[in-house]
Amino acid sequence: MTNGTLNDILLDSEFQEYPYMVEEFAFDNAEERRKVRQSGTGWIEVIAGSMFSGKSEELIRRLNRARIARQRVQVFKPGIDERYSVEEIASHSGQKHMSIPVSSTAEMLNHVLDDTEVIGIDEAQFFDMAIIDAANALAESGKRVIIAGLDQDFMGKPFEPMPQLLSIAEFITKTHAICVKCGSTANYSQRTVESEERVEVGAADKYEARCRQCFIPHADAPTLM
Ligand SMILES: [Zn+2]
Repeated sequence: MTNGTLNDILLDSEFQEYPYMVEEFAFDNAEERRKVRQSGTGWIEVIAGSMFSGKSEELIRRLNRARIARQRVQVFKPGIDERYSVEEIASHSGQKHMSIPVSSTAEMLNHVLDDTEVIGIDEAQFFDMAIIDAANALAESGKRVIIAGLDQDFMGKPFEPMPQLLSIAEFITKTHAICVKCGSTANYSQRTVESEERVEVGAADKYEARCRQCFIPHADAPTLM
């Protein structure tokens, strides 16, 4: 499932075969954010969770609401993530939003416009550690910074720089998937192809959601559905 257009991918049967996306979003701190906004400063929101937990969907939902409110929005994603499109961020369920692919934090900062009010960053686990200072600087300059990313790698280890971003955020939303083995709340991305690389970009072709009991910190055969 690579190199296809978004339309090809939307038609891809893998999406129909993966009906386990959570549809209810976690409490998104809207009331607390309103209070921060009144003080005129910026802030950082982090949406963290496993694959198939709805992180990108929740990011896109917030960005679309900001756009409806006529706020100026810019969205970035790492150039490494070319699963769906180099011009868009997309959730596994097919929602999408225009974005700028960048190869580093420095390149992202070069693209940020002074009058931008809301910055979205997807797949933040693929950014370099400079993203931490950059997120703080953007928030301090008055911008709302919304960051989504995988909080653990395929071995269940914290996936830098997400732990640091969670620490500096005013607001955190943890999203969960559903374990495909037993139906429990899933907090892990189970790799289903043999590879020891930390970065092995893929979706339902290489990963599935698992709970703590069913997760194995190395490759395991995919669950038959
Ligand atoms: Zn399970």
